[in-house]
Amino acid sequence: MNFIDPHIHMVSRTTADYEAMALAGIRAITEPAFWAGYDRGSAAGFRDYFEHLTVFEPARAAKFGIRHYCWICLNPKEAEDFALARDVLETVPEFLDRPTALGVGEIGLNKNSRNELAVLEMHLQIAAARNELVLVHTPHLEDKLKGTRLIMDAIRNFRLDPARVIIDHAEEHTVGEILDRGFWAGLTLYPVSKCSPARAVDILETHGTEKIWLNSAADWGVSDPLATVKAANEMRMRGHSEETIHKVFHDNPAVFLGQSPKFKG
Ligand SMILES: [Zn+2]
Repeated sequence: MNFIDPHIHMVSRTTADYEAMALAGIRAITEPAFWAGYDRGSAAGFRDYFEHLTVFEPARAAKFGIRHYCWICLNPKEAEDFALARDVLETVPEFLDRPTALGVGEIGLNKNSRNELAVLEMHLQIAAARNELVLVHTPHLEDKLKGTRLIMDAIRNFRLDPARVIIDHAEEHTVGEILDRGFWAGLTLYPVSKCSPARAVDILETHGTEKIWLNSAADWGVSDPLATVKAANEMRMRGHSEETIHKVFHDNPAVFLGQSPKFKG
């Protein structure tokens, strides 16, 4: 089995995680830019982070036989400071040009605020102008459905092709609408919040396996870099074929990511 984990934050993981992932069959990963656990406060802080995502982390992953790609943006949690957002967005295109940067992400909304929406639109403008793939973070819990709709409407306003946008952290109450509107949907596997492997496989059994990927989104919090492997095993135990499992954990992310010529599988 040859896995792709299309959403994982390796800056917050150890080399032991890389080794375990490689041994479990994870061969390619993509790392969206996200919140560092504290607000960075300056565009220089973001430059350092983008440098890390595009230079150091791919080299670290390669030592374990894993191909590492990334996404560049200012995340919604730090989108309240407009002046900072403008400074950071000026540096974004330079890093999108890097050979392992696949697109703009993870952009989206956190609290569905007005400033977050404005900064989301600035990112969508860059994505539309450069024809970039987009990876979207959707808000948690009670804000999720409203936030998901606001984001999909904003994307439509910029005339981005929904087939080149993945709406991540989808759940039971949002996945149907995301797929109906032509977007890809991502399911995030978390041990304590978001989808458990069992819930995610229930969703696949309800909505099918077209235009859906599963990811660990492993980060600083309680999370599991082997979550995709465990969800694959859940499918196996329920009697799904190896072909279907391979489609979900390899072919689907490869098809979506392969829309960028930089992605080599
Ligand atoms: Zn994330």
